[in-house]
Amino acid sequence: MTILAYGASAANQPVSRMDITRRAVGPHDVQIEILYCGICHSDLHQVRSEWAGTLYPCVPGHEIVGRVAAIGAHVDAHQPGDLVGVGCIVDSCQHCAECDDGLENYCNGMVGTYNGPTADAPGHTLGGYSQAIVVHERYVLKIIHPEEQLAAVAPLLCAGITTWSPLRHWGAGPGKKVGIVGIGGLGHMGVKLAHAMGAHVVAFTTSETKRADAKALGADEVVVSRNADEMAAHGQSFDFILNTVAAPHDLDAFLQLLKRDGTMTLVGAPATPHPSPNVFNLIMRRRSLAGSMIGGIPETQEMLDFCAAHGITADIEMIRADEIEPAYERMLKGDVKYRFVMDIATIGD
Ligand code: NAP
Ligand code: ZN
Repeated sequence: MTILAYGASAANQPVSRMDITRRAVGPHDVQIEILYCGICHSDLHQVRSEWAGTLYPCVPGHEIVGRVAAIGAHVDAHQPGDLVGVGCIVDSCQHCAECDDGLENYCNGMVGTYNGPTADAPGHTLGGYSQAIVVHERYVLKIIHPEEQLAAVAPLLCAGITTWSPLRHWGAGPGKKVGIVGIGGLGHMGVKLAHAMGAHVVAFTTSETKRADAKALGADEVVVSRNADEMAAHGQSFDFILNTVAAPHDLDAFLQLLKRDGTMTLVGAPATPHPSPNVFNLIMRRRSLAGSMIGGIPETQEMLDFCAAHGITADIEMIRADEIEPAYERMLKGDVKYRFVMDIATIGD
């Protein structure tokens, strides 16, 4: 099947319209008509080859929502017409310890929704800035939010699960003081989710203009991290800090805010390294510095169902397909409230 997509032919080329093909529906496959796709900062990193190893043409997009158009003979969990989502994972080995634990995100054979190895043309996966996708049923999520919220559900497939997974793993909940650093696409979901989990949430932003918004998103307190006095007031007080910042910055400023045995987990993936943290900030109070990558398929479904039950969606700004490049530029300036979502219907215009 040949369809329209938006992608780049090289690192120095803008994202523009192109034809791509999708494989025929196999026995365990679900073919999805894509309706909306979120714009993640990882799309920008990858399409501009800021991380090593981008393959071209590159069609980004891993916050995919749409409707099932066709199913293979052995698929029974999804039916044509169902609202479904696809996140960052479209395949994995399905038999290692990670896959058995439902943590396909840590499988050595994990195939990303774009830029991953595949037998399909052109030899690497192509993502959700496109009219349709064919995905093995295991990696297709059910969406039970009301249909009118569908566009605002799209960012849950990456920004939602990438913040949900570490918040759950490190025990965010009642009685815990949790910091969320960087109030962008990931960070705004982190604030909403940590608040819904019952934690005391402190949002850290470099943007004075986000102070009021962060409270509205669910933060109990907001700290403008450029202000040393505001930072110092929270010294040694956090159980957990989730750091979503997409650029290199001083990690010590945040490590000092952790209690004894506290953890800061990095999910932001800047193109160049952070300055090395001062080890004394770790050893003096047995603090941990950790990382986390998206989340597994079962926990993604758990997150989607939790969000539906709690009325949680992303705060989005809808864009047309031909507005992706200006959206990237605004994202680089932190000028997004709080996630761009592309209306896939505009690809054909
Ligand atoms: P985003 O929407 O651009 O948000 C990033 C936020 O970081 C900005 O809004 C800004 O928030 C803050 N920030 C940016 N530059 C900064 C700087 N120089 N100093 C301090 N703060 C800065 O990006 P996103 O989509 O949330 O993604 C964030 C990062 O996570 C990216 O690197 C992305 O690739 C990565 N990511 C990782 C995973 C994973 O599995 N680990 C999954 C998805 C994305 P304020 O204005 O509030 O300061
Ligand atoms: Zn993402």
